[in-house]
Amino acid sequence: MAKLIKEIQAADYRKEVLNQPRVVVDFYSTECPPCEALAAKYEALSEIYGKDIPFVKIFRQGNRELATELDITGSPTVLFYENGKIVGDKLTGGIKRSDLMKNLDTLLTESEKTITHAKIKAYETETDVVILGGGPAGLTAGLYLAQAHVKTILVDTALPGGYVATTHLVSNYPGFIEPLPGMMLSHYMSEQAKANGVEFRAAVEVNNVDLKNKTVTIDGVETIKAKKIVIATGSRPRPLGLPGEKEYGGNGISYCATCDAKYFQDKEVVVIGGGNSAIEETFFIAKFAKKITIVHQFDHFQANMVAQEKLKKLENVEILLEHEPREFKKYGTMDMGVVVEELKSGKRKEVRTNGIFVFVGFLPNIEAFNGKLALDKWGYLNTNDEMETSLEGVYAVGDVKTKAYRQITTAVADGTIAAIAISKNI
Ligand SMILES: Cc1cc2nc3c(=O)[nH]c(=O)nc-3n(C[C@H](O)[C@H](O)[C@H](O)COP(=O)(O)OP(=O)(O)OC[C@H]3O[C@@H](n4cnc5c(N)ncnc54)[C@H](O)[C@@H]3O)c2cc1C
Repeated sequence: MAKLIKEIQAADYRKEVLNQPRVVVDFYSTECPPCEALAAKYEALSEIYGKDIPFVKIFRQGNRELATELDITGSPTVLFYENGKIVGDKLTGGIKRSDLMKNLDTLLTESEKTITHAKIKAYETETDVVILGGGPAGLTAGLYLAQAHVKTILVDTALPGGYVATTHLVSNYPGFIEPLPGMMLSHYMSEQAKANGVEFRAAVEVNNVDLKNKTVTIDGVETIKAKKIVIATGSRPRPLGLPGEKEYGGNGISYCATCDAKYFQDKEVVVIGGGNSAIEETFFIAKFAKKITIVHQFDHFQANMVAQEKLKKLENVEILLEHEPREFKKYGTMDMGVVVEELKSGKRKEVRTNGIFVFVGFLPNIEAFNGKLALDKWGYLNTNDEMETSLEGVYAVGDVKTKAYRQITTAVADGTIAAIAISKNI
Protein backbone atom coordinates (compact mmCIF):
# COMPACT_ATOMS: atom_id res chain seq x y z
CA MET A 1 0.00 0.00 0.00
CA ALA A 2 1.21 3.52 -0.79
CA LYS A 3 2.81 5.30 2.16
CA LEU A 4 0.15 8.00 2.32
CA ILE A 5 -2.74 5.53 2.61
CA LYS A 6 -3.69 4.35 6.07
CA GLU A 7 -5.63 1.10 6.63
CA ILE A 8 -7.87 1.39 9.68
CA GLN A 9 -10.46 -0.67 11.57
CA ALA A 10 -13.95 0.39 12.69
CA ALA A 11 -12.56 1.08 16.19
CA ASP A 12 -10.36 3.88 14.74
CA TYR A 13 -13.18 5.41 12.68
CA ARG A 14 -13.93 8.25 15.11
CA LYS A 15 -10.31 9.24 15.57
CA GLU A 16 -9.09 8.80 12.00
CA VAL A 17 -12.19 9.87 10.09
CA LEU A 18 -14.79 11.79 12.10
CA ASN A 19 -12.28 13.84 14.08
CA GLN A 20 -10.32 14.94 11.01
CA PRO A 21 -11.02 18.21 9.17
CA ARG A 22 -11.10 16.32 5.87
CA VAL A 23 -10.53 12.76 4.79
CA VAL A 24 -11.36 10.29 2.02
CA VAL A 25 -12.28 6.69 2.80
CA ASP A 26 -12.27 3.67 0.48
CA PHE A 27 -14.40 0.75 1.73
CA TYR A 28 -12.93 -2.17 -0.22
CA SER A 29 -13.21 -5.94 -0.44
CA THR A 30 -10.93 -8.68 -1.61
CA GLU A 31 -11.59 -10.58 -4.86
CA CYS A 32 -13.35 -7.51 -6.19
CA PRO A 33 -12.31 -6.40 -9.71
CA PRO A 34 -13.75 -2.86 -9.35
CA CYS A 35 -11.74 -2.51 -6.10
CA GLU A 36 -8.59 -3.51 -7.99
CA ALA A 37 -9.42 -0.99 -10.72
CA LEU A 38 -9.80 1.70 -8.06
CA ALA A 39 -6.68 0.76 -6.07
CA ALA A 40 -4.21 2.05 -8.70
CA LYS A 41 -6.06 5.38 -9.02
CA TYR A 42 -6.43 5.76 -5.24
CA GLU A 43 -2.72 5.15 -4.74
CA ALA A 44 -1.71 7.57 -7.49
CA LEU A 45 -3.99 10.29 -6.13
CA SER A 46 -2.77 9.74 -2.56
CA GLU A 47 0.69 10.76 -3.81
CA ILE A 48 -0.79 14.02 -5.10
CA TYR A 49 -3.46 14.93 -2.53
CA GLY A 50 -2.25 12.88 0.47
CA LYS A 51 -0.29 15.69 2.18
CA ASP A 52 -3.50 17.73 2.58
CA ILE A 53 -6.17 15.04 2.74
CA PRO A 54 -5.65 11.77 4.66
CA PHE A 55 -6.36 8.72 2.48
CA VAL A 56 -7.96 5.90 4.46
CA LYS A 57 -8.92 2.35 3.57
CA ILE A 58 -11.38 0.16 5.49
CA PHE A 59 -11.83 -3.53 4.72
CA ARG A 60 -15.61 -3.76 4.31
CA GLN A 61 -16.04 -7.48 4.99
CA GLY A 62 -14.01 -7.16 8.21
CA ASN A 63 -15.95 -4.11 9.38
CA ARG A 64 -19.49 -5.04 8.44
CA GLU A 65 -21.26 -3.25 11.29
CA LEU A 66 -19.72 0.10 10.38
CA ALA A 67 -20.42 -0.47 6.68
CA THR A 68 -24.08 -1.30 7.40
CA GLU A 69 -24.40 1.73 9.68
CA LEU A 70 -23.13 3.89 6.79
CA ASP A 71 -25.47 2.15 4.32
CA ILE A 72 -22.56 0.81 2.28
CA THR A 73 -23.83 -2.14 0.27
CA GLY A 74 -21.12 -2.62 -2.36
CA SER A 75 -17.38 -2.52 -2.80
CA PRO A 76 -15.66 -0.31 -3.50
CA THR A 77 -17.48 2.64 -1.98
CA VAL A 78 -15.58 5.88 -1.57
CA LEU A 79 -16.81 8.54 0.86
CA PHE A 80 -15.51 12.07 1.37
CA TYR A 81 -15.67 13.74 4.81
CA GLU A 82 -15.38 17.31 6.01
CA ASN A 83 -15.39 17.97 9.77
CA GLY A 84 -16.93 14.60 10.51
CA LYS A 85 -19.72 14.93 7.92
CA ILE A 86 -20.03 13.00 4.67
CA VAL A 87 -19.92 15.44 1.76
CA GLY A 88 -19.87 15.16 -2.03
CA ASP A 89 -20.63 12.05 -4.04
CA LYS A 90 -20.84 8.50 -2.76
CA LEU A 91 -18.73 6.77 -5.43
CA THR A 92 -19.27 3.10 -6.20
CA GLY A 93 -18.59 0.54 -8.97
CA GLY A 94 -16.22 1.47 -11.78
CA ILE A 95 -14.94 4.69 -10.20
CA LYS A 96 -13.21 7.15 -12.52
CA ARG A 97 -10.14 9.16 -11.60
CA SER A 98 -11.91 12.37 -12.64
CA ASP A 99 -14.77 11.70 -10.17
CA LEU A 100 -12.28 11.14 -7.37
CA MET A 101 -10.46 14.34 -8.27
CA LYS A 102 -13.65 16.38 -8.53
CA ASN A 103 -14.62 15.39 -4.97
CA LEU A 104 -11.10 15.74 -3.55
CA ASP A 105 -10.88 19.23 -5.06
CA THR A 106 -13.99 20.34 -3.18
CA LEU A 107 -12.16 19.59 0.07
CA LEU A 108 -9.31 21.96 -0.84
CA THR A 109 -9.06 25.73 -0.87
CA GLU A 110 -8.42 27.37 -4.25
CA SER A 111 -4.73 27.92 -3.50
CA GLU A 112 -4.29 24.34 -2.22
CA LYS A 113 -5.95 23.13 -5.41
CA THR A 114 -3.50 25.07 -7.61
CA ILE A 115 -0.49 23.70 -5.71
CA THR A 116 -1.89 20.16 -5.75
CA HIS A 117 -2.72 20.17 -9.46
CA ALA A 118 0.81 21.40 -10.24
CA LYS A 119 2.07 18.07 -8.83
CA ILE A 120 0.26 16.10 -11.55
CA LYS A 121 2.84 14.95 -14.10
CA ALA A 122 1.97 13.33 -17.40
CA TYR A 123 3.96 10.19 -18.21
CA GLU A 124 4.43 7.66 -21.01
CA THR A 125 4.22 3.87 -20.83
CA GLU A 126 5.60 1.66 -23.58
CA THR A 127 3.99 -1.57 -24.64
CA ASP A 128 3.76 -3.82 -27.68
CA VAL A 129 0.00 -3.76 -28.07
CA VAL A 130 -2.76 -1.62 -26.64
CA ILE A 131 -6.28 -3.03 -26.80
CA LEU A 132 -9.22 -0.65 -26.59
CA GLY A 133 -12.19 -2.46 -25.09
CA GLY A 134 -12.39 -5.36 -22.65
CA GLY A 135 -15.37 -7.33 -23.94
CA PRO A 136 -14.96 -10.92 -25.17
CA ALA A 137 -13.09 -9.79 -28.31
CA GLY A 138 -10.56 -7.60 -26.50
CA LEU A 139 -10.07 -10.03 -23.61
CA THR A 140 -9.45 -12.93 -26.00
CA ALA A 141 -6.98 -10.90 -28.04
CA GLY A 142 -5.24 -9.99 -24.78
CA LEU A 143 -5.11 -13.60 -23.61
CA TYR A 144 -3.54 -14.86 -26.83
CA LEU A 145 -1.07 -11.96 -27.01
CA ALA A 146 0.03 -12.35 -23.41
CA GLN A 147 0.50 -16.09 -23.91
CA ALA A 148 2.71 -15.27 -26.90
CA HIS A 149 4.78 -12.99 -24.60
CA VAL A 150 3.58 -9.86 -26.34
CA LYS A 151 3.37 -7.05 -23.77
CA THR A 152 -0.26 -5.97 -23.78
CA ILE A 153 -2.23 -3.23 -22.05
CA LEU A 154 -6.03 -3.37 -22.18
CA VAL A 155 -7.90 -0.10 -21.78
CA ASP A 156 -11.63 0.04 -21.03
CA THR A 157 -13.78 3.07 -20.36
CA ALA A 158 -15.89 0.85 -18.08
CA LEU A 159 -15.07 -2.25 -16.07
CA PRO A 160 -13.98 -5.08 -18.40
CA GLY A 161 -16.58 -7.61 -19.50
CA GLY A 162 -18.48 -5.76 -22.19
CA TYR A 163 -22.04 -6.82 -22.94
CA VAL A 164 -21.52 -10.25 -21.46
CA ALA A 165 -21.19 -8.73 -18.00
CA THR A 166 -24.70 -7.30 -18.31
CA THR A 167 -26.28 -10.39 -19.86
CA HIS A 168 -28.47 -12.28 -17.42
CA LEU A 169 -27.68 -15.82 -18.58
CA VAL A 170 -25.47 -17.08 -21.39
CA SER A 171 -26.45 -20.51 -22.63
CA ASN A 172 -24.72 -20.65 -26.01
CA TYR A 173 -21.07 -20.20 -25.10
CA PRO A 174 -19.40 -23.60 -25.56
CA GLY A 175 -17.88 -25.36 -22.58
CA PHE A 176 -20.61 -24.76 -20.00
CA ILE A 177 -23.36 -27.36 -19.72
CA GLU A 178 -25.71 -25.16 -17.71
CA PRO A 179 -26.49 -21.52 -18.62
CA LEU A 180 -23.95 -19.29 -16.97
CA PRO A 181 -24.59 -15.81 -15.55
CA GLY A 182 -23.01 -13.38 -18.04
CA MET A 183 -21.26 -11.68 -15.13
CA MET A 184 -19.42 -14.93 -14.28
CA LEU A 185 -18.38 -15.60 -17.88
CA SER A 186 -16.95 -12.11 -18.23
CA HIS A 187 -15.26 -12.45 -14.82
CA TYR A 188 -13.57 -15.71 -15.93
CA MET A 189 -12.46 -14.10 -19.19
CA SER A 190 -11.00 -11.04 -17.42
CA GLU A 191 -9.26 -13.07 -14.72
CA GLN A 192 -7.81 -15.45 -17.31
CA ALA A 193 -6.41 -12.55 -19.33
CA LYS A 194 -5.01 -10.97 -16.16
CA ALA A 195 -3.49 -14.24 -14.93
CA ASN A 196 -1.67 -14.56 -18.24
CA GLY A 197 -0.13 -11.12 -17.94
CA VAL A 198 -2.46 -8.60 -19.59
CA GLU A 199 -2.20 -5.25 -17.80
CA PHE A 200 -5.55 -3.51 -17.26
CA ARG A 201 -6.53 0.13 -17.21
CA ALA A 202 -10.18 -0.14 -16.23
CA ALA A 203 -12.87 2.53 -15.83
CA VAL A 204 -10.65 5.17 -17.38
CA GLU A 205 -11.31 8.17 -19.57
CA VAL A 206 -9.82 7.87 -23.05
CA ASN A 207 -8.70 11.39 -23.94
CA ASN A 208 -6.97 10.77 -27.23
CA VAL A 209 -6.28 7.93 -29.65
CA ASP A 210 -3.59 8.60 -32.24
CA LEU A 211 -3.91 5.64 -34.58
CA LYS A 212 -1.01 6.68 -36.80
CA ASN A 213 1.52 7.06 -33.98
CA LYS A 214 -0.14 4.27 -31.97
CA THR A 215 -0.64 6.23 -28.78
CA VAL A 216 -3.58 6.26 -26.40
CA THR A 217 -3.85 8.90 -23.68
CA ILE A 218 -5.96 8.07 -20.65
CA ASP A 219 -7.13 9.96 -17.58
CA GLY A 220 -5.24 13.01 -18.80
CA VAL A 221 -1.93 11.70 -17.44
CA GLU A 222 -0.81 8.45 -19.02
CA THR A 223 0.10 8.09 -22.69
CA ILE A 224 0.46 4.47 -23.73
CA LYS A 225 2.80 4.11 -26.71
CA ALA A 226 2.31 0.86 -28.59
CA LYS A 227 3.48 -0.86 -31.76
CA LYS A 228 -0.03 -2.05 -32.64
CA ILE A 229 -3.56 -1.08 -31.62
CA VAL A 230 -6.51 -3.46 -31.38
CA ILE A 231 -9.93 -1.81 -31.44
CA ALA A 232 -12.48 -3.93 -29.57
CA THR A 233 -14.92 -1.26 -28.49
CA GLY A 234 -18.09 -3.12 -29.49
CA SER A 235 -21.38 -1.50 -30.39
CA ARG A 236 -24.41 -0.18 -28.55
CA PRO A 237 -28.13 -0.36 -29.27
CA ARG A 238 -29.35 2.70 -31.08
CA PRO A 239 -31.36 4.46 -28.38
CA LEU A 240 -35.01 5.37 -28.89
CA GLY A 241 -34.66 8.03 -26.21
CA LEU A 242 -37.90 7.08 -24.45
CA PRO A 243 -38.83 7.15 -20.77
CA GLY A 244 -38.16 3.76 -19.14
CA GLU A 245 -35.69 2.68 -21.84
CA LYS A 246 -32.53 3.11 -19.78
CA GLU A 247 -34.13 1.87 -16.57
CA TYR A 248 -35.42 -1.41 -17.99
CA GLY A 249 -32.70 -2.12 -20.59
CA GLY A 250 -31.56 -5.70 -19.85
CA ASN A 251 -34.35 -5.93 -17.28
CA GLY A 252 -37.54 -6.21 -19.32
CA ILE A 253 -36.23 -4.68 -22.55
CA SER A 254 -33.90 -6.85 -24.64
CA TYR A 255 -31.84 -6.10 -27.72
CA CYS A 256 -30.89 -9.70 -28.54
CA ALA A 257 -33.37 -12.42 -29.55
CA THR A 258 -30.70 -15.14 -29.81
CA CYS A 259 -29.86 -14.42 -26.21
CA ASP A 260 -33.23 -13.82 -24.59
CA ALA A 261 -36.08 -15.25 -26.71
CA LYS A 262 -35.88 -18.59 -24.91
CA TYR A 263 -37.06 -16.96 -21.68
CA PHE A 264 -40.40 -16.16 -23.36
CA GLN A 265 -41.72 -19.68 -23.94
CA ASP A 266 -45.54 -19.33 -24.18
CA LYS A 267 -45.34 -15.66 -23.21
CA GLU A 268 -46.32 -12.47 -25.03
CA VAL A 269 -43.75 -10.01 -26.34
CA VAL A 270 -43.65 -6.71 -28.17
CA VAL A 271 -41.10 -6.19 -30.95
CA ILE A 272 -40.16 -2.63 -31.89
CA GLY A 273 -38.82 -2.19 -35.44
CA GLY A 274 -39.55 -3.19 -39.00
CA GLY A 275 -36.23 -3.64 -40.76
CA ASN A 276 -34.53 -6.90 -41.69
CA SER A 277 -33.15 -7.54 -38.23
CA ALA A 278 -36.52 -6.89 -36.52
CA ILE A 279 -38.34 -9.33 -38.81
CA GLU A 280 -35.59 -11.98 -38.81
CA GLU A 281 -35.43 -11.81 -35.01
CA THR A 282 -39.23 -12.07 -34.86
CA PHE A 283 -39.00 -15.47 -36.61
CA PHE A 284 -36.67 -16.63 -33.90
CA ILE A 285 -38.82 -15.24 -31.08
CA ALA A 286 -41.90 -16.89 -32.65
CA LYS A 287 -40.40 -20.29 -31.84
CA PHE A 288 -40.97 -19.49 -28.19
CA ALA A 289 -43.55 -16.75 -27.67
CA LYS A 290 -47.27 -17.44 -27.95
CA LYS A 291 -47.96 -13.92 -29.21
CA ILE A 292 -45.81 -11.18 -30.75
CA THR A 293 -46.95 -7.62 -31.35
CA ILE A 294 -44.76 -5.74 -33.83
CA VAL A 295 -44.76 -1.96 -33.51
CA HIS A 296 -43.43 -0.15 -36.58
CA GLN A 297 -43.48 3.53 -37.47
CA PHE A 298 -44.08 3.26 -41.24
CA ASP A 299 -47.06 1.87 -43.18
CA HIS A 300 -44.91 -0.98 -44.52
CA PHE A 301 -41.90 -2.96 -43.37
CA GLN A 302 -38.36 -2.23 -44.60
CA ALA A 303 -37.41 -5.90 -44.40
CA ASN A 304 -36.81 -7.82 -47.65
CA MET A 305 -39.87 -9.25 -49.45
CA VAL A 306 -38.98 -12.88 -48.69
CA ALA A 307 -38.96 -12.08 -44.98
CA GLN A 308 -42.21 -10.15 -45.28
CA GLU A 309 -43.92 -13.05 -47.07
CA LYS A 310 -42.69 -15.43 -44.39
CA LEU A 311 -43.97 -13.08 -41.69
CA LYS A 312 -47.50 -13.21 -43.15
CA LYS A 313 -47.53 -16.97 -42.53
CA LEU A 314 -46.90 -16.60 -38.81
CA GLU A 315 -50.14 -16.97 -36.89
CA ASN A 316 -49.14 -15.54 -33.56
CA VAL A 317 -48.17 -12.06 -34.80
CA GLU A 318 -50.16 -8.84 -34.48
CA ILE A 319 -48.85 -5.84 -36.43
CA LEU A 320 -49.25 -2.20 -35.43
CA LEU A 321 -48.07 -0.21 -38.45
CA GLU A 322 -47.79 3.57 -38.27
CA HIS A 323 -47.37 3.32 -34.52
CA GLU A 324 -44.45 4.52 -32.45
CA PRO A 325 -43.53 3.64 -28.89
CA ARG A 326 -43.65 6.57 -26.48
CA GLU A 327 -42.86 5.04 -23.07
CA PHE A 328 -41.86 1.76 -21.44
CA LYS A 329 -43.34 0.69 -18.11
CA LYS A 330 -42.59 -2.13 -15.72
CA TYR A 331 -45.10 -3.58 -13.29
CA GLY A 332 -43.17 -6.63 -12.11
CA THR A 333 -41.06 -9.52 -13.37
CA MET A 334 -42.14 -10.30 -16.94
CA ASP A 335 -44.90 -7.72 -16.63
CA MET A 336 -44.19 -4.79 -18.92
CA GLY A 337 -46.13 -2.09 -20.72
CA VAL A 338 -45.43 -0.15 -23.93
CA VAL A 339 -47.33 3.06 -24.52
CA VAL A 340 -47.75 3.35 -28.30
CA GLU A 341 -49.08 6.22 -30.38
CA GLU A 342 -51.04 5.79 -33.57
CA LEU A 343 -49.30 8.36 -35.74
CA LYS A 344 -52.29 9.36 -37.88
CA SER A 345 -54.70 10.05 -35.02
CA GLY A 346 -52.21 10.82 -32.27
CA LYS A 347 -54.17 8.42 -30.04
CA ARG A 348 -52.18 6.57 -27.41
CA LYS A 349 -52.78 3.18 -25.83
CA GLU A 350 -50.80 0.84 -23.64
CA VAL A 351 -49.88 -2.68 -24.76
CA ARG A 352 -49.30 -4.94 -21.73
CA THR A 353 -46.77 -7.66 -22.41
CA ASN A 354 -44.26 -10.00 -20.78
CA GLY A 355 -41.20 -8.61 -22.52
CA ILE A 356 -40.02 -6.07 -25.08
CA PHE A 357 -37.48 -6.53 -27.86
CA VAL A 358 -36.05 -3.45 -29.56
CA PHE A 359 -34.46 -3.89 -32.99
CA VAL A 360 -33.91 -0.43 -34.37
CA GLY A 361 -30.25 -1.04 -35.06
CA PHE A 362 -26.92 -0.86 -33.28
CA LEU A 363 -24.23 1.79 -33.51
CA PRO A 364 -20.53 0.87 -33.52
CA ASN A 365 -18.46 2.58 -30.84
CA ILE A 366 -16.07 4.34 -33.22
CA GLU A 367 -16.33 7.97 -32.14
CA ALA A 368 -12.68 7.96 -30.99
CA PHE A 369 -11.50 7.01 -34.51
CA ASN A 370 -14.03 8.92 -36.59
CA GLY A 371 -12.93 9.55 -40.15
CA LYS A 372 -9.59 7.78 -39.75
CA LEU A 373 -10.51 4.24 -40.80
CA ALA A 374 -12.47 2.70 -43.67
CA LEU A 375 -16.03 1.69 -42.80
CA ASP A 376 -18.56 -0.65 -44.38
CA LYS A 377 -21.88 0.74 -45.60
CA TRP A 378 -23.41 0.33 -42.15
CA GLY A 379 -20.63 2.31 -40.47
CA TYR A 380 -18.70 -0.63 -38.96
CA LEU A 381 -14.91 -0.92 -39.29
CA ASN A 382 -13.67 -2.73 -42.37
CA THR A 383 -10.92 -5.31 -41.87
CA ASN A 384 -9.07 -7.92 -43.89
CA ASP A 385 -9.05 -11.62 -42.95
CA GLU A 386 -6.42 -10.99 -40.28
CA MET A 387 -8.61 -8.28 -38.70
CA GLU A 388 -6.34 -5.45 -39.82
CA THR A 389 -8.15 -2.23 -40.66
CA SER A 390 -7.35 0.18 -43.47
CA LEU A 391 -4.49 1.54 -41.34
CA GLU A 392 -1.41 -0.63 -40.92
CA GLY A 393 -0.92 -1.92 -37.39
CA VAL A 394 -4.50 -1.09 -36.35
CA TYR A 395 -6.81 -4.09 -35.91
CA ALA A 396 -10.54 -4.29 -35.22
CA VAL A 397 -12.26 -7.24 -33.55
CA GLY A 398 -15.71 -8.14 -32.29
CA ASP A 399 -18.95 -6.24 -32.72
CA VAL A 400 -17.24 -3.01 -33.85
CA LYS A 401 -16.11 -4.57 -37.13
CA THR A 402 -17.99 -5.50 -40.24
CA LYS A 403 -19.56 -8.96 -40.02
CA ALA A 404 -22.83 -10.80 -40.48
CA TYR A 405 -23.34 -12.22 -36.97
CA ARG A 406 -22.47 -10.57 -33.68
CA GLN A 407 -22.13 -13.09 -30.88
CA ILE A 408 -19.65 -13.87 -28.09
CA THR A 409 -18.24 -16.78 -30.09
CA THR A 410 -17.66 -14.62 -33.17
CA ALA A 411 -16.08 -11.90 -31.01
CA VAL A 412 -13.63 -14.32 -29.38
CA ALA A 413 -12.81 -15.75 -32.82
CA ASP A 414 -11.90 -12.28 -34.11
CA GLY A 415 -9.77 -11.63 -31.02
CA THR A 416 -7.94 -14.91 -31.57
CA ILE A 417 -7.23 -14.21 -35.24
CA ALA A 418 -5.96 -10.67 -34.62
CA ALA A 419 -3.72 -11.78 -31.75
CA ILE A 420 -2.15 -14.63 -33.72
CA ALA A 421 -1.58 -12.35 -36.72
CA ILE A 422 -0.01 -9.68 -34.49
CA SER A 423 2.21 -12.08 -32.56
CA LYS A 424 3.65 -13.36 -35.84
CA ASN A 425 4.52 -9.84 -36.96
CA ILE A 426 5.79 -8.05 -33.90
C1 LIG B 1 -28.46 -7.62 -24.21
C2 LIG B 1 -27.51 -8.49 -24.98
C3 LIG B 1 -27.42 -9.83 -24.66
C4 LIG B 1 -26.55 -10.67 -25.37
N1 LIG B 1 -26.50 -12.02 -25.07
C5 LIG B 1 -25.69 -12.83 -25.79
C6 LIG B 1 -25.68 -14.24 -25.55
O1 LIG B 1 -26.41 -14.76 -24.71
N2 LIG B 1 -24.82 -15.00 -26.30
C7 LIG B 1 -24.02 -14.45 -27.27
O2 LIG B 1 -23.23 -15.18 -27.88
N3 LIG B 1 -24.04 -13.13 -27.53
C8 LIG B 1 -24.87 -12.31 -26.83
N4 LIG B 1 -24.92 -10.98 -27.11
C9 LIG B 1 -23.99 -10.44 -28.12
C10 LIG B 1 -22.59 -10.35 -27.47
O3 LIG B 1 -22.71 -9.82 -26.16
C11 LIG B 1 -21.65 -9.49 -28.29
O4 LIG B 1 -21.59 -10.01 -29.60
C12 LIG B 1 -20.25 -9.47 -27.67
O5 LIG B 1 -20.28 -8.98 -26.36
C13 LIG B 1 -19.31 -8.62 -28.49
O6 LIG B 1 -18.10 -8.54 -27.84
P1 LIG B 1 -17.11 -7.31 -28.07
O7 LIG B 1 -15.92 -7.60 -27.24
O8 LIG B 1 -16.94 -7.07 -29.51
O9 LIG B 1 -17.88 -6.02 -27.54
P2 LIG B 1 -18.54 -5.65 -26.16
O10 LIG B 1 -18.95 -6.83 -25.40
O11 LIG B 1 -19.58 -4.65 -26.49
O12 LIG B 1 -17.36 -4.93 -25.35
C14 LIG B 1 -16.86 -3.69 -25.75
C15 LIG B 1 -16.06 -3.07 -24.61
O13 LIG B 1 -15.43 -1.89 -25.08
C16 LIG B 1 -15.51 -0.86 -24.10
N5 LIG B 1 -15.40 0.42 -24.80
C17 LIG B 1 -16.35 1.07 -25.54
N6 LIG B 1 -15.83 2.20 -26.05
C18 LIG B 1 -14.53 2.27 -25.66
C19 LIG B 1 -13.45 3.20 -25.88
N7 LIG B 1 -13.61 4.29 -26.64
N8 LIG B 1 -12.26 2.93 -25.33
C20 LIG B 1 -12.07 1.83 -24.57
N9 LIG B 1 -13.05 0.92 -24.31
C21 LIG B 1 -14.25 1.14 -24.85
C22 LIG B 1 -16.86 -1.11 -23.44
O14 LIG B 1 -16.87 -0.55 -22.13
C23 LIG B 1 -16.91 -2.65 -23.41
O15 LIG B 1 -16.34 -3.18 -22.23
C24 LIG B 1 -25.76 -10.13 -26.42
C25 LIG B 1 -25.85 -8.77 -26.72
C26 LIG B 1 -26.72 -7.97 -26.02
C27 LIG B 1 -26.82 -6.52 -26.38
